[in-house]
Amino acid sequence: MKSLDDYLPIVGEKVVGQIYQKAHRLINKHIVHINSTAYGGGVAEILNNLIVLLNDIGVDAGWRVLIGPSDFFSITKKFHNGLQGNSINLSNNKKRLYLETNDRFSRFTHLDHDCVIVHDPQPLPLIKFNKKIQPWIWRCHIDITHPSPELWNFVKTFILRYDLMVISSEQFRKDDLPLEQKTIHPSIDPLSPKNMDLSDDLIAKTLKKFDIPMDKPLITQVSRFDPWKDPEGVLKVFNEVKEKVDCRLVYCYNMAPDDPEGIIIYNKMKRIAGKYLESGDVLFRLGDDQILVNVLQRVSSVILQKSIREGFGLTVSEAQWKETPVVASRVGGIPEQVIDGKTGFLVDPQDISGCAEKVVTLIKDKKLAAKMGKEAKEFVKQKFLITRHLDDYLNLLIDVLIS
Ligand code: UDP
Repeated sequence: MKSLDDYLPIVGEKVVGQIYQKAHRLINKHIVHINSTAYGGGVAEILNNLIVLLNDIGVDAGWRVLIGPSDFFSITKKFHNGLQGNSINLSNNKKRLYLETNDRFSRFTHLDHDCVIVHDPQPLPLIKFNKKIQPWIWRCHIDITHPSPELWNFVKTFILRYDLMVISSEQFRKDDLPLEQKTIHPSIDPLSPKNMDLSDDLIAKTLKKFDIPMDKPLITQVSRFDPWKDPEGVLKVFNEVKEKVDCRLVYCYNMAPDDPEGIIIYNKMKRIAGKYLESGDVLFRLGDDQILVNVLQRVSSVILQKSIREGFGLTVSEAQWKETPVVASRVGGIPEQVIDGKTGFLVDPQDISGCAEKVVTLIKDKKLAAKMGKEAKEFVKQKFLITRHLDDYLNLLIDVLIS
């Protein structure tokens, strides 16, 4: 099992020492994280890595996953979309199932911890159904700059019960909320199977196992099939790139239990990509295997992240950590991870031709791609590794529980 000391060779003694010192102040504090899926998506990725380390350094951190029926997750995906700017028909039925599921879950989820940290909108109303005997923190991972006003007013009634809210980027700060808001950037774990170094032999075996030919340069987007990740835009970009340079596109996708839209968009994309699927120029690969994701983020000439809205976009830092340059939309948390023209390229989410042009540049100019990749890794090392995230969480817990 991983331990904080394993990170010494990457981040050094000072960083690790500071984390131990802060953790010492929180020894025996019992906290709990609650979210809505154990796998699929960035929140589960972060919790899987962070919670083990919190326990390793002496903070008793638990994790509960909200249990609910599938129609609850259809509704909460609509809420997710509404909070990111879509319009929504906020019917009484939707509100009722949202509340009932949280009420039900609270009956068998006993929260006598020193601190409760609730992630994203799905379990947000839990606070209403619990006797609040400790600080509650709402950790919002999505872009809430332009929410549907009616929905925002509804969820606000729950947010207001919290002691503190954590956002992924300063730009998501809400002026209409009286509670304290802190920014904590998400992070990647350099030692997880998804991000660790791989031998050439394992890379070759994995490419063979998942039938990924390397006779042409690869462009890959690693994402759930979600409208905000703009899979159709990805194909449009690929169309234009293909006119200039022969290459292959990989959709590396997974499904999350709290995202029922995934399968619908997957089916649609398979239809739209028809001719390329037949020619083998577009590949769909299920990315449940962390080593496969790792390999694709390493061997691709370019990683695309063509999001329309993005809370953070862990896939960007994941690729950059592997020295693979990224062409990504200038939205949400992405511009904080990419220094445009230095560690990768940022493009307007509507600018298909501009995006294609940057992809072509990186495929053709290998020297530039390698230079950007090196800068990108260094940047991720400074800002987006799990040790920094752990340190931020410890500061937060010390503030809330000790100071
Ligand atoms: N992911 C994966 N396999 C896939 C697609 C995505 O493991 O086929 C992972 C990806 O590597 C990243 C997370 O899911 O760790 C997605 O996080 P991100 O913040 O990019 O987006 P979210 O899904 O949270 O909107």
